[in-house]
Order: sequence, then C-alpha cells, then structure tokens
Amino acid sequence: MNRWLSFELHAHTLHSDGAHTLAELAGFARQRGYDGLAVTDHNTIAAWAEWEAVTAATGVRILPGLEWTTFHGHALLLNIPQYVDWRALGTFDLERGIRAVHDQGGLFGIAHPFRLGNPICTGGYWEYRAGHGSADYLEVWSQSLPAARTGNQRAFQWWTRLLDAGCRITAVAGSDLHRLAPAEALARTYLAVDGGDDPGPAAAIRALRSGAVTVSMGPLVTVELRSAAQSWGAGSVVPAADRPSILELEVALRSTAQMAWVEIDRTDFRAVISSNRGEVCQVPLGLDGAARRSIDVNGLRWMRAELFGRIQGVAQLIAFSNPIYFQI
Ligand SMILES: [Zn+2]
Ligand SMILES: [Zn+2]
Repeated sequence: MNRWLSFELHAHTLHSDGAHTLAELAGFARQRGYDGLAVTDHNTIAAWAEWEAVTAATGVRILPGLEWTTFHGHALLLNIPQYVDWRALGTFDLERGIRAVHDQGGLFGIAHPFRLGNPICTGGYWEYRAGHGSADYLEVWSQSLPAARTGNQRAFQWWTRLLDAGCRITAVAGSDLHRLAPAEALARTYLAVDGGDDPGPAAAIRALRSGAVTVSMGPLVTVELRSAAQSWGAGSVVPAADRPSILELEVALRSTAQMAWVEIDRTDFRAVISSNRGEVCQVPLGLDGAARRSIDVNGLRWMRAELFGRIQGVAQLIAFSNPIYFQI
C-alpha cells in the first residue's frame, strides 16, 4: 500500500546563497511536519556531506540534489551519485547534459521556467528550446503563494500544452527556500511511496519518477480511476486493450499538516477534472471526504484534478494532481 509523503523539493543552504545550514532547514521541515527535503544548492554539492547525519538527527529524509544555475536556465538534479557539471555544454546541447544525468540514474527537473531573468536573476528564465521532451519534471509552482504568481500561471499553462502534445512530464512545487519566513504559505509536493513502514529516499525518487505526485498549499487531493478489476492513480497509464468506455472516478481530499500554517477556508472546496478534452466535470468536495462519478474516457489522453478553494480570503487554485494517462 502506498503512502503519501510531503516534500520540499527546492532549498538552498549556506553552501550557496541560502541563509541556513542543512540542519536548520531540516529542523524547519520537521517542525512543520514535512517527511522530506531536497537540498539543491547552486552548482555545489558541499551540503551533501551532512545529509546522513541530518537525517539521523531529525528523521527528515534528505534528497541530495543540485541546481544547475546556467546562464540560460536553472535545472534541478536529484538522485545523482556525484556532481554533474554543465559548463562544457553549449547552448544547443542541453540534451547531452540531460543524457549524462539519466545515465547516472538521476532525475532532471526544469526549475521556475518563467522567473524573471537578467538582470534580476541570471538564468532564472528558461531560454533553452530543448529539454522539455526528456526532462523528468517541471517545477510549475515556485516560491510562496505560488498560484497567484504570473510566472507560475504561465508554467502551469506550458505544462498543459506539453501534456496535450503527448509529453509525460511530472509537475512539482518547489519553494526555492533561501530564508525561512514563518508566515509564508508554501506549497508541498506529495509523493505516493511504496517501501514498507519507513520508506526512504529511494522510494521517494521512484514515486517522483513515476509521476505518483500531487501538489498542494493545503489539503491533499488525490484522483483514481477504477474498472471492475483494476485501479489507476496519478502517473499510471490506463491501457487501451479491453478498456471500458465508462470508468469510475474518485476524487478525495485529506487534511494535511500544512493546513496549520496557512489561512485556509476549510469548508469551500471544488475539484475540476481537466483533460486534453477540456473540463470533464466538476465536483464539490468536503475535507476528509471523497466524491465519485462515472466518466466517459473515450478520447482522453490525460486527466488530472485541480482543486479550487480560498487561501488568505482569495479564491484560487490551491492544489492539483498529476495526470492519469491513457494509452492510445
Ligand atoms: Zn533557480
Ligand atoms: Zn533555487
């Protein structure tokens, strides 16, 4: 049985331009009930020396990572056994760099693709015309209160266009933590991990790789499709053979530790099921409840849940699942 664990997937320490040690970041994560934290310093893995000791001391699973901070875009690397350099890559051979990451078993994520670039943040804007076809994940939500940020809205739209074009790319949130500000509304990335009672970093990486991922500033939203014999969640592919036209959809909403840290209306949630065909249906949802619908899956290539609610009094997208895919 899989469990949902919450992660912060983008954080900096004193080893690059962050204001805190890895132990301080992990202490923050533990206080807020996170299960794990990726350390992704700019072009250095110096903080990796501490990750095992910090995990042992705090119980927070640390994913050692790296943020490629190039002149034309930033990328997040996870599950790499050693530093991977980007400086030998030219503007037009990013794909070669992604292959080098994949050859080592690593994951490659595009970071904050529509952040302001030069001169505000060199390379903050993704200028590569490559990479999205072979990247494993896309940081569609960056920084605090992410849904209201124009750059994140563009990233979400870009993700949708990539899904429509047939890419299977997982969307995540990353707060890009440099300084810990206690009042900020941060989004978390939830990973559906296998691996028994105490799943470790390897189980988290497997979940991220498979797209068994959902993102939220508040409650956890999950989506599942069922036939008489089988079920499929985020990241799964519903096979074409013997696929019934009608499947049962279940959308569920669960309280999370994050909800103690955000001013959220606990009574007003609505899920929109969206797809390559546009909106499939809308369902009102109660906290710690579920809604079921029979849906016609003909013509679907992907389908996800988008959860709308109120944070700090403002109606907005507060969570979304990754897609269930359909073999065509
Ligand atoms: Zn960055
Ligand atoms: Zn960063």
